[in-house]
Amino acid sequence: MDLEFDQKHVWHPYTSTISPLKCYPASSAKGVHIELEDGRQLIDGMSSWWSAIHGYNHPTLNEAAHAQIDRMSHVMFGGITHQPAIDLCKSLVEMTPKGLEQVFLADSGSVAVEVSLKMALQYWHAKGEKRSKFLTLRDGYHGDTFAAMSVTDPDNSMHSLYKGFLPEHIFATSPNTGFWDNWNPEDIEDLEHKLEHNHKEVAAVILEPIVQGAGGMRIYHPEYLKRVRKLCDQYGLLLILDEIATGFGRTGKLFACEHAEVVPDILCVGKALTGGYMTLSATITTKHVADTVCSGEAGCFMHGPTFMGNPLACAVASASMSLLKQGNWKSQTHNIESSFARLLPALLQNERVRDVRWLGAIGVVETKQPVNMEAIQKRFVEQGVWIRPFGKLIYMMPPFISEAHHIKRLIDAIAQVITEDDCFLD
Ligand SMILES: *Cc1c(COP(=O)(O)O)cnc(C)c1O
Repeated sequence: MDLEFDQKHVWHPYTSTISPLKCYPASSAKGVHIELEDGRQLIDGMSSWWSAIHGYNHPTLNEAAHAQIDRMSHVMFGGITHQPAIDLCKSLVEMTPKGLEQVFLADSGSVAVEVSLKMALQYWHAKGEKRSKFLTLRDGYHGDTFAAMSVTDPDNSMHSLYKGFLPEHIFATSPNTGFWDNWNPEDIEDLEHKLEHNHKEVAAVILEPIVQGAGGMRIYHPEYLKRVRKLCDQYGLLLILDEIATGFGRTGKLFACEHAEVVPDILCVGKALTGGYMTLSATITTKHVADTVCSGEAGCFMHGPTFMGNPLACAVASASMSLLKQGNWKSQTHNIESSFARLLPALLQNERVRDVRWLGAIGVVETKQPVNMEAIQKRFVEQGVWIRPFGKLIYMMPPFISEAHHIKRLIDAIAQVITEDDCFLD
């Protein structure tokens, strides 16, 4: 591969053109393995950012893609419908918590979040109330487009760069009680106060249920989410749950909100929706919210991307939902969680490690110093694994099909790099 061209002209996520880091050339992927151009096989610990839950190159998903591309890769969704979209939406209505029954298909996670915020704004407009604020949590992550970024942690996403353009929303302190800890009622106080003072201008509360992903890999207590739902009900506010990272089994439940038995008014899904094959997302809401939105001045929901409901993506997503419905994800994520519980605590003996935590198929090692990305990435690859940390977080969300010996290889590799000084910045 022409890596020189790549380094010179191709912009990778969150990278500098002044000092671009070298990327590793992948030539194929199968099961839990990513194959590099030189033939090395890496055990994947990332599921390509939460998405490849069934592993790569899956025969069922391949077959769905092949069958659909020979029939019709795309057709506009305005005025036309098709079987892959109907099949997928049927699965989504069936699998998501009861009451969520109106599906809006979108292009990516960030767009699903944009759509959810627009739904909430149109909802209140239709009710004749002017509400334009969202309440969300510190340390959250909801995407890179402007509205999604406006409810993402202001420091992590550097709101200061976009001041004057970016809408300003209300941020409550993120929950501190871990998933496995005893619930501390003080956790909810800040959000409670902020709602008490601002509820009349708030359209909705938006947050990631149970696991705050890219904003800090924080795994919090279900009671927090229960309280948030109660407060939303008390003030008549909409609750938007962003399950783009947590959805489809990742936390050991099909949706993370099930840990708290909470049902949102609007749910965002993406990432694993197509099993990591292509980009597709969905925003799913209740009949009440949808009908209220459509009873307003516009008479409809004001959104409709060109590639909405792309049949190829829907066909693969639908096949991915069928794989989930077979139910193996339950024992698979349970087994991965057991491996994490068995192997992660030993890492605490290394003085570089501040904390280890896990839930379902998510495992996190938080270090005291930030990683040296270039050095640590190289050492992981040398050990035959693909793990991409950020800041002080070395984290894993492996494909569900990973076996105990794969998880052990990932954790052994982490155990090794945390002993190496040049993998960390001071
Ligand atoms: C990744 C992510 C998004 C954004 O999805 P993209 O497909 O990258 O636009 C939004 N919310 C959460 C919780 C995510 O993890």
